[in-house]
Amino acid sequence: MTYYEKKPEKKFFEKELVDYRDMVWGCARCNWCQNQWGWNVKSAEFSEICPAFHEFRIFPYSGMGKMHIARALLEGDFDYDDAPEMLDFIYTCTTCGACEMNCQRLQDKEPLKVNETLRAQFVRDGFGPKPEHKRLITGVQHYDNPWMQPRSQRDRWARTVPIKDLGREPAQTLFFVGCTAAFNNTLWKMAQSTAMILHEAGIDLGMFGKQEICCGSPIARIGDRETFFTIARRNIDLIHTSGVRQIITFCPGCYRSLKYDYPEVPGLPKLKPAVYHAAEYIAQLIDEERITCHNTVPLKVTWHDPCHLGRHCGIYEAPRRILRAIPGIELIEMERIKDQAWCCGGGGGARAAYPDFARATALKRIAEAQKTGAQALVTQCPFCEQNLMDALAQVQNGMQLFDLNELVIRASQKTKK
Ligand code: SF4
Ligand code: SF4
Repeated sequence: MTYYEKKPEKKFFEKELVDYRDMVWGCARCNWCQNQWGWNVKSAEFSEICPAFHEFRIFPYSGMGKMHIARALLEGDFDYDDAPEMLDFIYTCTTCGACEMNCQRLQDKEPLKVNETLRAQFVRDGFGPKPEHKRLITGVQHYDNPWMQPRSQRDRWARTVPIKDLGREPAQTLFFVGCTAAFNNTLWKMAQSTAMILHEAGIDLGMFGKQEICCGSPIARIGDRETFFTIARRNIDLIHTSGVRQIITFCPGCYRSLKYDYPEVPGLPKLKPAVYHAAEYIAQLIDEERITCHNTVPLKVTWHDPCHLGRHCGIYEAPRRILRAIPGIELIEMERIKDQAWCCGGGGGARAAYPDFARATALKRIAEAQKTGAQALVTQCPFCEQNLMDALAQVQNGMQLFDLNELVIRASQKTKK
């Protein structure tokens, strides 16, 4: 189930707060946006679903709170200057989508879209975003990445990997790496293992290398629509000029942007190549026996559903199919999984502006993972990986952290175990 199944009359990025007036008045104050579905709860400790509300414990931090803030702003009950803490209410949201998922199922409303539209209005009116977010936007505007890293460093991860540079030679498939894994050498393994798996399966793979541009996902979530529109148009032009037939990315933020956000931008041409997340593509290659997992990897693992892969895009089964295809892997599920999964805390700009909150949220996920008895936490998102890695370094409970494709490489390579 994904909340993209319904099509609004206007494209999402065309909508203003006033378009949500009826919806925000209709909030039932039922609190389903804060809790797991009743039929799914297994313990009090892991029964909640909104990281921001769980941490700060007052209702403006919840999805319901965003609905009421929007209503009050629309009806003139308050103005920006009346509530300086308002930026914290709307920007501690990790954009995990849990409130949206539960509210859509039970009340047919969209608290996360309301919050993202609130953010866009704050940015447009000059009251947002947070200073830490302005630095990300400046990075994208001047360096094509939010981390303000030089473009010349963007392809360093690929020095040991057989992949074409699309600036020099054509390829059928674009490997869209994304800024976070490309520039953080502790995450290079994500890009390297994905590229190696696809290469060994015979995929004609190319990258933009130094020319790659941020997908714009962090900028869209922060609420700077104008910068996001510019980025989206540049990416579509670059992709169409390259002549690639399909795009594969392992970053759920890039995947959501390319596949679901770009079509919601008014006036943009349709992206012609098909867009795949690496998990769905590699699961298919395993089914077709173009990748064979012949090595045993003896490990008890639990899978963390990245919010932007699961709830936002509906991909829950593909990574689990991959794990089950690896001999020796025992998958033990956490209490909150799939569309009820607990967020890692790293998304939506929360890690940039509220690092302590982001870490506290990751620590709660690690506690949930530890309760399963698994030796390792496996996921596939650079933001989740980074945030969980930092939290694991703090807690030092012996739990390992793997990117899904690290395990696929171990299982499929002839020379390595
Ligand atoms: S689940 Fe929806 S209707 Fe219920 S309180 Fe939350 S936002 Fe309001
Ligand atoms: S998107 Fe997630 S963090 Fe934000 S309000 Fe909804 S449940 Fe809370």
